[in-house]
Amino acid sequence: MKLNKNYNNLKQNYLFSIIAHKVAEVAEKNPDKTIIRLGIGDVTLPLVPAVISAMNGAVDEMSQKETFKGYGPEQGYGFLKENIRSYYERMGVCLETNEIFISDGAKSDLSNILGLFTEDNVVLIPDPVYPVYVDDNVIDGRKIVFADADESNGFLPMPNEAVNPDIIYICSPNNPTGAAYSKEQLAEWVAYAKRKEAIILYDAAYECFITDPNMARSIYQVEGAKDCAVEICSFSKIAGFTGMRCGYTVVPFDIEQDGLSLNKMWLRRQTTRFNGVNYIVQKGAAAIFTPAGEAQIRQNLEYYKRNAKLIAQCMDELGIPYTGGENSPYIWLRCPNGMGSWEFFDYLLEKAGIVGTPGAGFGKNGEGWFRLTAFGSYENTLEAVERIKILFGK
Ligand code: PLP
Repeated sequence: MKLNKNYNNLKQNYLFSIIAHKVAEVAEKNPDKTIIRLGIGDVTLPLVPAVISAMNGAVDEMSQKETFKGYGPEQGYGFLKENIRSYYERMGVCLETNEIFISDGAKSDLSNILGLFTEDNVVLIPDPVYPVYVDDNVIDGRKIVFADADESNGFLPMPNEAVNPDIIYICSPNNPTGAAYSKEQLAEWVAYAKRKEAIILYDAAYECFITDPNMARSIYQVEGAKDCAVEICSFSKIAGFTGMRCGYTVVPFDIEQDGLSLNKMWLRRQTTRFNGVNYIVQKGAAAIFTPAGEAQIRQNLEYYKRNAKLIAQCMDELGIPYTGGENSPYIWLRCPNGMGSWEFFDYLLEKAGIVGTPGAGFGKNGEGWFRLTAFGSYENTLEAVERIKILFGK
């Protein structure tokens, strides 16, 4: 056998295990102290009743000979694809149902889609960002160029003519920085991708947090994006599906090269290597788009947004620079008093009993920055904000 030696090139990612270890140590030393966890990127509110009831109905269907479902379409059931198509239509984006492929989440498809591209493609990845993009490409042995995101560009890097990428990653709103591109800024990326004959892999996992109408919720809100961008999205954040595993990828018909259609390649890939997401979960996902489901998930999103606002207001009061908080569940703050990411992590944990995520875990430009999330409970977020204000003398 010949093993893939690229695995040796992966940086060991101890981020969350180091955090867990440090938290356990502080908890042991201070049994009376309540530790508030604002480091997680996972949701905490349960699935909404409309989703539960749809899944219960689907379980009943599975129990009857007449309604039982075996293998489903690999690319997803028509009822869910149609719901997604009409969701996009409401944001002014025209998709065909056969451009939509249901997946078991964005993480898998972000990796699987790379199977359509050879290893000699050069990839452009923002720094800092969701670490999976880098690891996926390290495993495949592709050359990675970084697009530096920092305070000077509001953590929203713009195209650089000197770089010649083949595959461009965009994550908006970004994890961890919470920064989101406007439609005008994305139009520059689309034009750049066309000039460079590159493809954009657009991760829209957090689009549901966007409230500002100038910000793009989909790359296809930019004219011309359908012939140079694939959009990967997820029900994880919009509807708390992190444990359910369901998302979707849009591969437009218009992306072609030398007679090869990316949509046809992806269909072939999915029908060969994937057997679809289970019926019960897809029924649950379809309920997100019913009037009751929409109202219920809106309430959950408002809950998280209220937390985000609370943290952002605290940063405003303390004069700590940050991005996110609006249009995003993440608040990305500059570590006060020139502290490094880990130094601030220890300081906040020991002095205030609050757990966040050191920015250095998301790329070199994350050093000196820190991520807090809005996915905790309202009560804990309120308490955390009070503790931070006391710590910094307000
Ligand atoms: N994309 C980004 C930017 C994320 O932050 C995450 C998860 O936190 C994912 C994708 C993964 O989504 P899923 O749960 O659909 O695999």
